[in-house]
Amino acid sequence: MNSLILNPGREKSLQHRHPWVFSGAVERVKGEPAGETVAVRDCHGAFLALAAYSPASQIRARVWTYRESETVDEAFFRARLARAIGLRQDLAGETDGVRLVHGESDGLPGLVVDRYGDVLVMQVLSAGVEHWRDTLAGLLIELTGCANLYERSDAEVREMEGLALRKGILRGVLPAQLAIHEHGLKFGVDVEKGQKTGFYLDQRDNRRRIGELARDKDVLNCFCYSGGFSLYALRGGARSVLSLDSSAEALAMAKDNVRLNELPEDRAVWLEADVFKHLRLLRDQGRSFDLIVLDPPKFAPTAQHAAGAARAYKDINLWALKLLRPGGLLATFSCSGGVSAELFQKILAGAALDAGATAQVVGHFSAGLDHPAVLNFPEGEYLKGLLLRRTE
Ligand code: SAH
Repeated sequence: MNSLILNPGREKSLQHRHPWVFSGAVERVKGEPAGETVAVRDCHGAFLALAAYSPASQIRARVWTYRESETVDEAFFRARLARAIGLRQDLAGETDGVRLVHGESDGLPGLVVDRYGDVLVMQVLSAGVEHWRDTLAGLLIELTGCANLYERSDAEVREMEGLALRKGILRGVLPAQLAIHEHGLKFGVDVEKGQKTGFYLDQRDNRRRIGELARDKDVLNCFCYSGGFSLYALRGGARSVLSLDSSAEALAMAKDNVRLNELPEDRAVWLEADVFKHLRLLRDQGRSFDLIVLDPPKFAPTAQHAAGAARAYKDINLWALKLLRPGGLLATFSCSGGVSAELFQKILAGAALDAGATAQVVGHFSAGLDHPAVLNFPEGEYLKGLLLRRTE
């Protein structure tokens, strides 16, 4: 096995168990094929980690293990996958839509696996996982007992790894209709054409919380996708739910989901609209709401995009606060790894100030337990949210 030697002083982050080696930290490495395992060493040759080499990426290597005695082979991945899958047992009664593997946070950098009923969806996001893709696919079938595995490696981050986008069936077949159960609601999931792997599993518990707060309220759900928060609000007894999304496909799925659950269709309005523009329009129309959900897409994938993202977050939150009746609640989220919880709260404070609103923080949101974040890898804690009450 070849070694990757770090520049002097660049061993610190690995010693703190942060699993990435950036290109600028690398002193030298023998021309290694993409995805191969290398031994990462400090400038004196001392062992630090075994990692997957990724020649095209700014993240030049991702750690598999900090133990020199381990071998990165099929048995290694069987153990890692079995552990990740085992840690999700606690969710068994709540849902059959579960994230089984969450990348770095499960010791498998670059691998995401979601289970929807008896279909697995795998995302291969790094050169290391690409190298082991076939082994991993076989192990996933073996360990879950699921016969069907679909690959959704069409996320743009693959391009940063020098990998082409790809999707398709890897094992078994896709059923004509696929639906999951989540806290007693049913959601159709389109793993081929849906966003990401088909569903936003990370918001499961937050959706339930919104459902519990919705009774007799006029609800506005912005960026509704396939109707997640809207369905919970309808089940929770909302007086009305207005849902906005720019994707016609997402809205069609959302309407199907309302029917699938036999929820009151007459209380729901779905609009294909750009949230940035539509919030202003609602204000012009003199509309107001008791409960607003803002769950936008990732505006800042990395910290470099934070400034532009901050403007976008501020804008939608400012207008949402204006539309909120006094005493009303705003559940506002950011899934940007590049925006910390601290920065997010600052942005919201600025938005409230400019909206002429006073708001209290009455709750915090994070991703569910199948989206863990290891302590030494803050990037893993991407989803954050606040529940605000407008007091004036
Ligand atoms: N809350 C959803 C997930 C939201 S994902 C759930 O619980 O499942 C973000 C959604 O925002 C996507 O459906 C995407 O189509 C939509 N979107 C992105 N930009 C938008 C814009 N400018 N206006 C409206 N919707 C937008």
